[in-house]
Amino acid sequence: MQYKRILLKLSGEALMGDRQYGIDPKRLAEYAEEIKKVVSMGVEVAIVIGGGNIFRGVAGASNGMDRVQGDHMGMLATVINGLALQSALEDEGVQTRLQSAIKINEVAEPFIRRRAIRHLEKKRVVIFGGGTGNPYFTTDSAAVLRAIEIDADVILKGTRVDGIYTSDPEKDKDATKFEHISFEDVLKKGLKVMDTTAFTLSQENELPIIVFDMNKEGNLLKVVSGEKIGTKVNL
Ligand code: UDP
Repeated sequence: MQYKRILLKLSGEALMGDRQYGIDPKRLAEYAEEIKKVVSMGVEVAIVIGGGNIFRGVAGASNGMDRVQGDHMGMLATVINGLALQSALEDEGVQTRLQSAIKINEVAEPFIRRRAIRHLEKKRVVIFGGGTGNPYFTTDSAAVLRAIEIDADVILKGTRVDGIYTSDPEKDKDATKFEHISFEDVLKKGLKVMDTTAFTLSQENELPIIVFDMNKEGNLLKVVSGEKIGTKVNL
């Protein structure tokens, strides 16, 4: 395995599968299976999950809701997704812990860095819920922050496209894929990989990001074992 400790970022929307809202149990089970494959290879896995399938603070604000209030709802949505993923993983026999950035002690451990690292060393999958715990941030920022804190080797951004393209491949048939690209070129070319706050935090800490198609069976294991799929962003 090329990577020993990974931070997997999954968007909330990915959990919707073919639905318009919420969680698709089939998709959830598929993800759990994919994650199990890398855990059984001895890889230490931490996961940050989004909440966009349930609620986004910006969406609330555009309908007149207070932004901070909306972001609190978004953060709670990530805890709901975290619980769902935890349950799916445990159905697969994978040991997990859910740590939340906002205190919700009856359902999740609080985020404690040293404890998270200890869980990883014991080969438990650690799911980080609640984002960064602060409004005006995204779970991409939470993913980079947690990856740095736990000293992950790489951030794996699992999406429904198989990498970073010159333009949106779902809209432009002439779009071509990068196998590898530098942080600087992503910024220069104005490509969207993560939001700017998350992306620059990763750049400053020299933490590579791999964008890959999480919906293709076996892909997560391939990426972790060093196969060149997706797009790798590094210095
Ligand atoms: N959120 C937040 N602070 C954070 C992370 C998330 O306030 O540190 C809120 C924010 O409202 C966001 C929502 O939680 O819209 C869901 O997260 P995100 O949009 O990143 O989810 P994804 O797009 O990955 O599904």
